[in-house]
Amino acid sequence: MLECLKEACGIFGAHDFGNGTVFPYLYWGLRAQNHRGHQSHGFITFDGKFHAYKGLDLVPKIKRKDIQQWLENLPGCVGIGNVRYATSGKTDEESLINDTQPLLEKTGKAEIAISFNGNIVNGSKIKEENTEKFLGFQFNYDAQLISRKLLAKLTEGSDLASSVKSCMEELEGAFSVAGITQKGELFAFKDPYGIRPLCCGYSKDRKIWAVSSETVGLDINGSKFDFEIEPGELVIASKDGFVREQLVKCEKRALCAFEFAYFARPDSRLGDKFVYEVREEFGRNLGREYPETVRDIDVIISMPETGNDAAFGLHEQTGKRWERVSRRHRYVTERAFILLPEERYPTIDRKINILDHKIRGKNVAVTDDSIVRGDTTKVVVNKLRKMGAKKVYLLITFPRIIGPCFYGIDMTTYGELIGSRHTPEEIAEILGADAVNYQSVNGLIKATGLSRNELCLGCVTGKYPTPLAQKLADEMKEKFEKGCKETGRIYEVATHSS
Ligand code: SF4
Repeated sequence: MLECLKEACGIFGAHDFGNGTVFPYLYWGLRAQNHRGHQSHGFITFDGKFHAYKGLDLVPKIKRKDIQQWLENLPGCVGIGNVRYATSGKTDEESLINDTQPLLEKTGKAEIAISFNGNIVNGSKIKEENTEKFLGFQFNYDAQLISRKLLAKLTEGSDLASSVKSCMEELEGAFSVAGITQKGELFAFKDPYGIRPLCCGYSKDRKIWAVSSETVGLDINGSKFDFEIEPGELVIASKDGFVREQLVKCEKRALCAFEFAYFARPDSRLGDKFVYEVREEFGRNLGREYPETVRDIDVIISMPETGNDAAFGLHEQTGKRWERVSRRHRYVTERAFILLPEERYPTIDRKINILDHKIRGKNVAVTDDSIVRGDTTKVVVNKLRKMGAKKVYLLITFPRIIGPCFYGIDMTTYGELIGSRHTPEEIAEILGADAVNYQSVNGLIKATGLSRNELCLGCVTGKYPTPLAQKLADEMKEKFEKGCKETGRIYEVATHSS
């Protein structure tokens, strides 16, 4: 997808039981996961006291001399890191700097560092209900809610497990967290639905234990994947060893299905499969589900990167020729969000180069992962037409997105989603395509190897795994359909009135 849809955060943590400096592991763990958050990055290490570094922009943009400096300034064998895109809180530059994670907070007795991925649905509500309790504290973003709740419990004398358990019981939403206590324990946990991924692994000599949003954060460090943290589970690595504790059991699991289609890197593992394998199967499914389109196409092309694996699967299933027709301009990297509105379309248009002689006079099937707002897809279809494509079919691996996400993906209103307002036929007409063929929800589920009861499919089915999200979605949908204007992120606006 060229649309630059954003994930909330990527997290990484490591504990070197051989007492080596952990900062290089954090650096590479984040660098492998920069696709999960590109607005800011940060590191916190611990060697008896906490050391922190935070910056805006991408990890690869940290200058070499700064890395050397931070290697000295961030000592310690325990550390956590975070790459962030804001789906809660303000997004002006000053706020982004202030809200960069990991977060380090202290009360009278306790101090804690937190790296967070997800989104708390009842965050605004809890803030309102606890104004007295958290007097003097501003909840700028969701990581602070977790950290404050943990600190409040730890200060009262609770142990880490019961403090985390109270977060799991009171907070609704997606939260995958890595943290460090003032005793130097590295801990990690997931919300009871397990909406965002978080896995653990260790180095070949088993001296370094690590936790990472995606397995690629382990791979780049030469570490071995060990296990995916269970929904509602807490893991702790300390000098005393390693502990796993199931704190809350939830009947339904809800790993975000969009991770398979778009967010996770193809070489990461989710569930029992590599993401690229699932995407290839998505492509095969599209071939099986739309035989009439398949009969009419001459050539399969893909949008660069996330559409490639599906294009391969579609080619395998149908025997139709797959051409690498579109190539990204490697150094045209501007993201839509930093551009002036008048620059947006031309820059997206300039991001890819299309070899027109391969499509001229042909019926073309374009595989892509999703259509969210539709603006960039329209540019692509237009470009293909101008280059002489006779027909343009869009084959989309993620089913039609009909509702917002409450759990950390930057699609937060009904109004912005072309699929919430239009049928596939209407969408085809708006985009200038001959047809838009979405993979079915059942096809997607089957390809992941998980069951319907193990996935979040809220944005494509309208059925959300958590109760407040469902209530807000239903209320806002009704208002939207009556023509009420949406004024901001659904979970930040709506919770005030619920
Ligand atoms: S609503 Fe959609 S994007 Fe959000 S967590 Fe669920 S499946 Fe993922």
